Amino acid sequence: MSEDKFTLETVLSVKRWSSNLFSFRMTRPAHFRFTAGQFARIGIDVDGEMVVRAYSVVSSPFEETLEFFSIVVPDGAFTSRLQYLKEGDQIYLEKIPYGFLTLARYQQPLPQDLWLLATGTGVAPFISMLQDFATWQNYRHIVLAYSVRIPDELAYVDKIGEIQSMFAEEDASFTFLPIVTRDPLAKLNQRLPKLILSGELESAADLKLKADRSHVMLCGNPQMVEDTKEALKSIGLTMNRRGEGNIAVENYW
Ligand code: NAP
Repeated sequence: MSEDKFTLETVLSVKRWSSNLFSFRMTRPAHFRFTAGQFARIGIDVDGEMVVRAYSVVSSPFEETLEFFSIVVPDGAFTSRLQYLKEGDQIYLEKIPYGFLTLARYQQPLPQDLWLLATGTGVAPFISMLQDFATWQNYRHIVLAYSVRIPDELAYVDKIGEIQSMFAEEDASFTFLPIVTRDPLAKLNQRLPKLILSGELESAADLKLKADRSHVMLCGNPQMVEDTKEALKSIGLTMNRRGEGNIAVENYW
């Protein structure tokens, strides 16, 4: 792998959410421009070799630094080392961003209702999109449903609250629906496909999923993406291709 595709950046801070979840912030070179929803490729040195992984950017395109959200994959060559990151460490960043999970991909139907459905660290690109004024100007209703196994894994809840007070109601309404699948006492505790098929997600959002007005983005566990896609198709929504259709997806590992 050619290292001239990368720049060496500095870790500015690390935040630990739980034993297996953490976020880190690093310097952003002036040339690194991205659209909310895109991912970066990050490299670390593992026994003398650069190992690279894709990470969606959490921070907004307008911030001076870059933030990422990671899970520690048990025995994973990359994250088992990455978890020990600390302020001042150096990390490689590929010069160009990647990915098509961006709002610009939608042409038809016209933007009205935006549904952002995530599991785990898949919430990252949505936090970025929700900090972009254009998102709030384009949509009338925005729903963020974020599914985790246990309450401790619900990261970024304070940030979501801040985003809500900063952006919502000016141009668009916002509904945040945390889903905690292994907590019987949680308000929503079924997996996303089930919540869609039962109508519970729509009731909780007070909004209908409709082919002529919904843009639905899915990001996270690949099996969730697959199953949720099928659930959405069964109620009449279509995959977004060449700008047309409702559903856009990103697998996360
Ligand atoms: P997860 O197992 O993906 O669970 C997160 C949420 O997704 C939970 O609410 C879970 O519900 C739900 N979910 C799982 N399968 C689903 C499906 N088919 N349909 C709908 N919802 C579904 O948990 P995670 O903590 O994000 O990740 C778990 C493991 O995935 C990690 O230990 C790691 O090994 C791997 N992972 C790898 C990477 C990578 O980059 N290599 C990234 C992230 C995760 P339930 O509670 O009902 O299962």
